[in-house]
Amino acid sequence: MKALLAIVISLACGVSAACATQWPNGAKAAVALTYDDALVSQLDNAAPALEAAGFRGTFFLSGVKAGDVPRWRGLASSGHELANHTIFHACPAANYPADPRYVAEAYTPASLLKEIEQQNVLLTAIDGKARHGFATPCGASKAGGVDYLEALRASGLVTYVRGVVVTPEDLKADVGKTDLMHVPARGFPEGVTGPQLIDFAKDAAAGGGMAVYLFHGVGGDYLQVSNPAHQELLAWLKGHPKEVWVAPLQEVLDWAAAHP
Ligand SMILES: [Zn+2]
Repeated sequence: MKALLAIVISLACGVSAACATQWPNGAKAAVALTYDDALVSQLDNAAPALEAAGFRGTFFLSGVKAGDVPRWRGLASSGHELANHTIFHACPAANYPADPRYVAEAYTPASLLKEIEQQNVLLTAIDGKARHGFATPCGASKAGGVDYLEALRASGLVTYVRGVVVTPEDLKADVGKTDLMHVPARGFPEGVTGPQLIDFAKDAAAGGGMAVYLFHGVGGDYLQVSNPAHQELLAWLKGHPKEVWVAPLQEVLDWAAAHP
């Protein structure tokens, strides 16, 4: 009988989104807007646009400048999420020219975890929170040639790890079952338009899962999305609360875990 019940439940989950997360306000999907590298254009442009729309974003900080600390603290106190992106942003040497002491090959999993631990201390000093999420620099999870994600999981240093890729299956996935060391996200090329950005949220709404946007510069800096495209996305999200629920990534993951 137990076996039969298990089969019935698995069938019910398999045929539709019946087992997908029940998002707040009956929304079909969740959207998290994330911003990497502690860029000043995020403070100058992205954050005010988010606030104007009534949204809160997630900012993965790396290479924080002392003069910007009060502004990051201000964002945290108004409900934005600050998260860990290491101190020195070590990427594979092949990605771009960098000081050879601060490329991923020069680290070990242990030394990288030490750095993540210290960046957590900075984040706690800024936002007063005990725990933080994490995003892999350049989406690469190797230190000294060794994948460090399982060591990071075991360490308990971070609440989740946001990557840089997303598959069509991810948009339909039961977010509550996401492997928290492999949270999918999508970046966009420079010149991306508002409608192209909006399509990602529409795809998530159709799938019932979540869309995690990955931004760098907003109307400035590098890998930038233009201010008009960014604002067009925010306006669409604000206008479609029955389609999408917008929240910081940690809040989305917490909700999904608590509402299977
Ligand atoms: Zn980065």
